[in-house]
Amino acid sequence: MHNRRAVVVGAGVAGLASAIVLSKLGWRVALLERRERLRGDNLGMILWASGVRALRALGLDATLDAGGTPVDRFEIRSEERLAGSFSAAVLGADDGSPSVMVHNAVLYEALVSHLGRDVEVYPATQVSRIDLVDLAAGDATRRWDADLVVAADGIDSPTREVIAKGAPTVDAGVVAFRATIPAHRAPERDSDAVEIYGPDRRRFGYGDLGQAGACWWATVPGGMRPESPQIQHELINRWFADWPAPVGKFIAATRPSELTQQPIRYVWPLPSRLHYAEGNHGVVLMGDAAHGVAPILAQGASLALEDAVTLGWALRRSPESIPEALHAYERARAARIRRVARVARRVHTVASGGPGVARGILRAIPDSWLSNRISSLSDWQPPR
Ligand SMILES: Cc1cc2nc3c(=O)[nH]c(=O)nc-3n(C[C@H](O)[C@H](O)[C@H](O)COP(=O)(O)OP(=O)(O)OC[C@H]3O[C@@H](n4cnc5c(N)ncnc54)[C@H](O)[C@@H]3O)c2cc1C
Repeated sequence: MHNRRAVVVGAGVAGLASAIVLSKLGWRVALLERRERLRGDNLGMILWASGVRALRALGLDATLDAGGTPVDRFEIRSEERLAGSFSAAVLGADDGSPSVMVHNAVLYEALVSHLGRDVEVYPATQVSRIDLVDLAAGDATRRWDADLVVAADGIDSPTREVIAKGAPTVDAGVVAFRATIPAHRAPERDSDAVEIYGPDRRRFGYGDLGQAGACWWATVPGGMRPESPQIQHELINRWFADWPAPVGKFIAATRPSELTQQPIRYVWPLPSRLHYAEGNHGVVLMGDAAHGVAPILAQGASLALEDAVTLGWALRRSPESIPEALHAYERARAARIRRVARVARRVHTVASGGPGVARGILRAIPDSWLSNRISSLSDWQPPR
């Protein structure tokens, strides 16, 4: 299948990975992104072993060797005690793919640098219509014809509603603050990655980014805060004032200008379909556009990378028929996506329960149960 044309809408992790996969298969790709520049954020993230396997399948091994910090131990705590401590093996490293903490901008740059020569990038292009009859995507002034449109335009993708009605975005009622601290200011860490569940539906986590320093994330109930970064910093200081070390040190080491705030949202219920096909062309949903899971399990980027690798597998398997390939993609992804989304929503619901609910449950459930859950979420392998 040569010289097929794909239009990828959105240059996030899902869109970039899809463009890489399609160009490797010989497609001509137009990558349309509304932002003016393709660049990642100054934020740390966890890439579970499944996402690491997907990155390797895309040929991005070097990114992980240079920019990822293997998570040898991940701890879940309540403020007063350790509730679970997970080794690299539990986190999926038994096949040599340890979960990693990675700086978002490093991951992003690696993806951008692997875009093939046949990928034409159109920044500052806000797609406003997708024509399903004569397949094409366009902004206010231009139109790109395609055999395949990849809708990788994030959790608010309007295409999800076109392909499968009734998969809305739900506001989770919490907001996340995150920051990355350069190495020279980062406080001492006692583990590679830690998440602490406190009272009043608050959580605080931190992780090691190697040379890029360290990162932390905190979720609190409520909506986006309208105050200045300076006031937000003071509020965070107050909300986590009596939490165990090194929480206060992370907050103190952060400059207000380094704070990022995001609302927590997820797609629920999931769309009943992930693609639309007509004749020999089609549209497919990828990444958050398809499944936007509650980020409490930090699975979103891994799922997006897995989606792209699976799309490549499906197109290789059915090179002559786009509908067949999209059908195979959907079959291969549906169960995995449902499982992760269900667990993420359940964990989110528990963590957002009344004061002390998360702490009570952490106290009650055995370590082995948590270990099984965590390792089963990282068990994805690229399809063959
Ligand atoms: C607080 C928080 C913490 C998280 N932590 C982690 C973590 O540790 N690990 C992890 O794996 N995941 C994490 N995630 C989830 C992860 O960030 C997302 O799942 C992932 O970025 C999804 O990638 P995507 O490419 O599907 O969507 P996006 O990253 O949203 O990319 C969509 C792209 O499409 C563009 N776009 C949108 N509309 C249009 C349009 N009309 N025309 C053109 N372009 C358009 C956007 O500008 C954007 O570039 C976290 C999420 C949150 C909110």
